[in-house]
Amino acid sequence: MELIFEKSKPGRKGYSLPPSDVPVHVDLPADLCRKKEAPLPSLTEQQVVRHFTLLSRQNFGVDSHFYPLGSCTMKYNPKFTEALAAMPAFKSLHPLLPQLPHGNNLCQGSLILLHELEQALSRISGMDAFTLQPLAGAHGELTGVMVIAAYHKKHGNHKKYILIPDSGHGTNPATAAIAGYQVKAIPSGPDGCMDLGTFKKELRDDVAAVMLTSPNTLGVFNPRIHEIADLTHKAGGLMYYDGANLNAIMGKTRPGDLGFDVVHLNLHKTFATPHGGGGPGAGPVGVKKDLAPFLPVSRIVQQEDGTYALHYDEPDSIGYIAPFYGNFLILLRAYAYILRLGSEGLTAVSENAVLSANYLLARLKEYYEPGCDYSSYCMHEFVLSAKKQKENGVTALDLAKGLIERGVHPPTVYFPLIIKEALMIEPTETETLETLDYFIEVMIEFAQKAEEDPGWFHTQPESGTVSRLDEVRAARDMDLCSIPAEKE
Ligand SMILES: *Cc1c(COP(=O)(O)O)cnc(C)c1O
Repeated sequence: MELIFEKSKPGRKGYSLPPSDVPVHVDLPADLCRKKEAPLPSLTEQQVVRHFTLLSRQNFGVDSHFYPLGSCTMKYNPKFTEALAAMPAFKSLHPLLPQLPHGNNLCQGSLILLHELEQALSRISGMDAFTLQPLAGAHGELTGVMVIAAYHKKHGNHKKYILIPDSGHGTNPATAAIAGYQVKAIPSGPDGCMDLGTFKKELRDDVAAVMLTSPNTLGVFNPRIHEIADLTHKAGGLMYYDGANLNAIMGKTRPGDLGFDVVHLNLHKTFATPHGGGGPGAGPVGVKKDLAPFLPVSRIVQQEDGTYALHYDEPDSIGYIAPFYGNFLILLRAYAYILRLGSEGLTAVSENAVLSANYLLARLKEYYEPGCDYSSYCMHEFVLSAKKQKENGVTALDLAKGLIERGVHPPTVYFPLIIKEALMIEPTETETLETLDYFIEVMIEFAQKAEEDPGWFHTQPESGTVSRLDEVRAARDMDLCSIPAEKE
């Protein structure tokens, strides 16, 4: 496809205005004026609309294709939340609306909404207090670990390490390191869970926290989670829950009841906000009572007269971590989604997400080697390995490229890092049986093709806009800046 700059013809315009009937008076200092025209493409409005409409159709998205991208929870995002987020009363709300006393401010309704969302998330996760400020899951992790660091500092605890299982998401060790801790990775056993022997050996009184997600990135719920939490607390450490996998347990159990002290939730995963391509998202952080004073400002507080206000005077707070109040319209979508589904609906989400994943695992495990010993069931996602297929020269990446040709977004590949040729599959609760069956059919076809015609995979996808990229060149010689010379 041509770039928009390549479609440009000098003199074309996307608008026309009648000549000005008032004097055009521009009196800017010369050094602020452009010497040359801005290098923008010249096109008609229709050309611009067609260009971007065509571009949008080159995409794989949840609205167009099955998207079993493990760990990312690419569920369908219902459109009623979009309609609410587009309401002028919300969309046009200015973050600097004055905060007058006695609830006389112009955003009381929005503050109530945010307060109720904090309460709902506290109930869902078993926590005592929430901040809605963090702008992504990884940002929530950083906020949560900074809260943990502030707590230890306040209590005079000298801590150096954070323990993380080797199946953890890359953001976990990155977060720990940015927050000033050293990371100790704990290996996983054949059951996919952190090895308890190594964990006990590494758990000393200089451990600040243990960062876990349960179910973990292999889709396994750790049956010894209470024991791990008890041991950690006895050693003076705190339990951090990476809530990216909440879609497996919502309504069934709560991180707070499992012994966790701090949790982040990815609203853009579990609570149905469109995501992909980098955002925007929201990663609210919940904490147990003792940690609440350290949460970032501002805090939403109820005043004596019953109205709500933003509070900044929190002496133990870690301070500002985001401008204003977080990604308000994402928070609004999550609030609407929670109210619409209610506790029964949210529980059904997890049940169906787990059911869909188990259906796929049961049908595919004789064709692809399971990533760990799923002795009975998996949770909302599972990992297969393309080890067997690789013997014929068909890698996880080749299978992913073949899936694009068949109209399926590839699963997450090569993660978690501990599984060779990993394909991490998360179907979510929103797919029909027909879609799941189509995916199974294609995956079985591919298992046979890998034996009979492995060469087929190496040229896929054939019918897409781009075929195989030279991945090394695409990364090393990336050119996002240069603008092609204007056509004569
Ligand atoms: C997505 C994810 C994260 C990071 O969340 P972002 O919102 O992408 O920053 C952390 N941990 C796990 C397990 C995840 O799946």
